[in-house]
Amino acid sequence: MTRIELDGVEKTFGSDQVVAGVDLTMPDGELTVLLGPSGCGKTTTLRMIAGLEQLSGGELRFDGQRMNEAPPERRRVGMVFQSYALYPHMTVAANLSFGLASRPNRGPRRRAKAQERARVLEIARLLEIDHVLDHRPRELSGGQRQRVALGRALIREPDVFLLDEPLSNLDANLRERMRMELARLHAELPITTVYVTHDQGEALTLADQLVVMHEGRIRQAASPALVYDRPADTFVAGFLGSPGMNLWTVPAAGPGGAGDRGDVRLASELLAMHGVGTEATTVGIRPEHLELVRGEPGLAARVRCQVRVVENLGSHLLVHAALASEPGSAVVVKLDVGSGVRRGDRIELGAREDHVHLFDLETTRRLEPAGRGGAVVVVAGDGAREAAGAR
Ligand code: ADP
Ligand code: MG
Repeated sequence: MTRIELDGVEKTFGSDQVVAGVDLTMPDGELTVLLGPSGCGKTTTLRMIAGLEQLSGGELRFDGQRMNEAPPERRRVGMVFQSYALYPHMTVAANLSFGLASRPNRGPRRRAKAQERARVLEIARLLEIDHVLDHRPRELSGGQRQRVALGRALIREPDVFLLDEPLSNLDANLRERMRMELARLHAELPITTVYVTHDQGEALTLADQLVVMHEGRIRQAASPALVYDRPADTFVAGFLGSPGMNLWTVPAAGPGGAGDRGDVRLASELLAMHGVGTEATTVGIRPEHLELVRGEPGLAARVRCQVRVVENLGSHLLVHAALASEPGSAVVVKLDVGSGVRRGDRIELGAREDHVHLFDLETTRRLEPAGRGGAVVVVAGDGAREAAGAR
């Protein structure tokens, strides 16, 4: 069991800084997901933990011990890459025990064959591939091949398990099944795990700790629920969710008072509780949190828009609209199939106070409302850090 700490970790390739001061603790036995768009530095961060890349700055610690200079074989990590390669001429059993043969020195140098077979069987059972131990990789399904790759890393009893987009080569159905398998596996074998993905579905279902990265920096590190419910900035807000959060820049207050900002009208109590006066701000509302309103009083936000496209997804409509005064602006909302909304309709949408997010226009950072108790947003990278507290 190992706690991993990254302390001001940096990586530069030539003059490109691809990891820019990452501070992060990955608790013992937990599964941490690094999520972010392609090129944001996820793989580089993982490779530094594995010892496959040197750090350009900062410190990496396992259980408090500096690991910067430790060679990969001393780190006791098991790694599975997106493009895992199995030995095609070897059986599944041989592929699995190959991991044991190249295992770092621990205990007696040569394990008894019987012990080795027992271990292969144990790991094969755990991964439900014990019935194909005599098969060769080409005789396996994609999911089974993926399990062999996982088994090959796990059979060495690593202290740290590193996975880099391990499911990207699988088709969508299999990916969903394997992601549940991985959740089960982690519950049964709680090894400190770092899981890299650009797939938010995987990230939200698997993570104990979800770390959203962008351009080599951490934008937010918290539980998936918290990242979803209280995104630290507009990048996280727009990245998470499918589709992501609607974000509108609302102009400074008009003549009608603080809440009068054209097609997006915000209750003055909402603005006051976020410390927003008459200045322009960014407002965010998730597509699933907007509803059609017909004059209900007391809503914190109201949005007037015109429908451009209606997609019927069976379970709901995904309605794409534009703010009435700004034809180029995007409003996306999930509505009931029975709502009868059609292309061209002018509609008014509303959202409850706890579903309306405000962000600083310049810093893009979340404005945490006063009186909603317990700031829990953690943003690393620029040193800003709000204390965690009870909700
Ligand atoms: P991610 O895994 O998030 O997609 P990577 O960590 O692979 O991103 O890459 C981050 C950035 O670092 C990218 O711009 C990539 O081109 C660059 N990069 C990665 N490895 C190298 C390397 N060995 N040499 C130069 N640039 C690299
Ligand atoms: Mg990558």
